[in-house]
Amino acid sequence: MDQAGLRRGNLALLVRTLREHGALSRAQLAVRSGLSKATVSSLVTDLELRGLVHFAGISAGGQGRPGQLVDLRPTSVCGVGLDVHVGHVGVAVADLSGEPLLRRRVACDVPGIGPERAIDQLAELARTAIAEVRDVVGPPVGVTVSVPGLVDRDSGTVTFAPRLRWRDVAVADGLAARTGLPLDRIAVDNDANLGAEAELAVLSGDPEHRITDLVYLTGDFGIGGGVIAGGRLIRGSSGFAGEIGHMAMDPLGPYCSCGRRGCWETQVGLGALLHACADPDDPVRDPTLDLDQRMRIVRARAEQHDRRTLDALHQIGTALGLGVSILVNLLNPAVVVLGGYFAALPEWLVEPIRNEVVANVLAPGAGGARVVGSQLGFTAATTGGALAALRRVLDDPTVVPTGQADDEEAPA
Ligand SMILES: [Zn+2]
Repeated sequence: MDQAGLRRGNLALLVRTLREHGALSRAQLAVRSGLSKATVSSLVTDLELRGLVHFAGISAGGQGRPGQLVDLRPTSVCGVGLDVHVGHVGVAVADLSGEPLLRRRVACDVPGIGPERAIDQLAELARTAIAEVRDVVGPPVGVTVSVPGLVDRDSGTVTFAPRLRWRDVAVADGLAARTGLPLDRIAVDNDANLGAEAELAVLSGDPEHRITDLVYLTGDFGIGGGVIAGGRLIRGSSGFAGEIGHMAMDPLGPYCSCGRRGCWETQVGLGALLHACADPDDPVRDPTLDLDQRMRIVRARAEQHDRRTLDALHQIGTALGLGVSILVNLLNPAVVVLGGYFAALPEWLVEPIRNEVVANVLAPGAGGARVVGSQLGFTAATTGGALAALRRVLDDPTVVPTGQADDEEAPA
């Protein structure tokens, strides 16, 4: 590795160390990072010039001389996550520490308006969000767009998203042209992969119970899967892994958006639930209503023991359990996270899933797999997108130019 590459790696090491441990003195940073004190001092000065760290008081106690504490400056930069769904587009902005600053969703018939107008909407959403947080946080280091489908990450192109009816859509190019953001700051990824990373970040908040094996289900009209095994996201040889919604569960079943029959998502997708629990003129089937609102109606009916709703949830839970059993046999995850609409209804879904898993998984006690509702619900993909965008700084702090420290607020 050349000198510049080595320095970038060391800067990244310090940023990650501070993110993990919070404020540290230079001496403590040297111990934790294994770098010399002189190197740490020089690197801290560099990070300070980029505005990524600030001084946060004096270290108390411990051995040696008290030292100035260095800490990350969360408001130095932000990451932006954008989200394209069948029924809405969304945005989330997070600061350098990963704290969400803004989340928004706008109802939008994405398959109906076509990719060009959908990308117009995404660009508008991004512009407005970035302008709104401008007073509280620095500029965006990146934008990551979440899409429910197959993505070619190298070119930022959606290869195929059947639910959106998109094929070979150059999302990154389109967004760069509309927003003026540099193309190398725009990424496109699969919604389940981004959701899985966001859920992992939430569940790993407690370092005592660090999770390395997780399956995340998107729970939307389509069902995507994000698989983290041994601490790493499984992408497969071409980047298309995790299309568990198209596991062939019933060769004679109903037709799927992909053109095949009996895919898992025809049994457990949001369309299957809505069809089973309500007639076509029922408000829960009104696409102009926000999904959260429709799920609140379903919840209320289940709480009132409405027979049709409970039967529908039991049917979905059982079909979910069969597919989850396959995944648990295959992957032995510590946790299966129910995302999207599933997260609004865990009280009625987890038990039938659990029953199927116990009945169908070879490992005793289902190999310890827990089934839990997501804490992020429909915001997992945008949250994961914002975190993925921030990873650009965590991997290479030099993407933030020097000279951003001047606008630092006065110490309190
Ligand atoms: Zn299918």
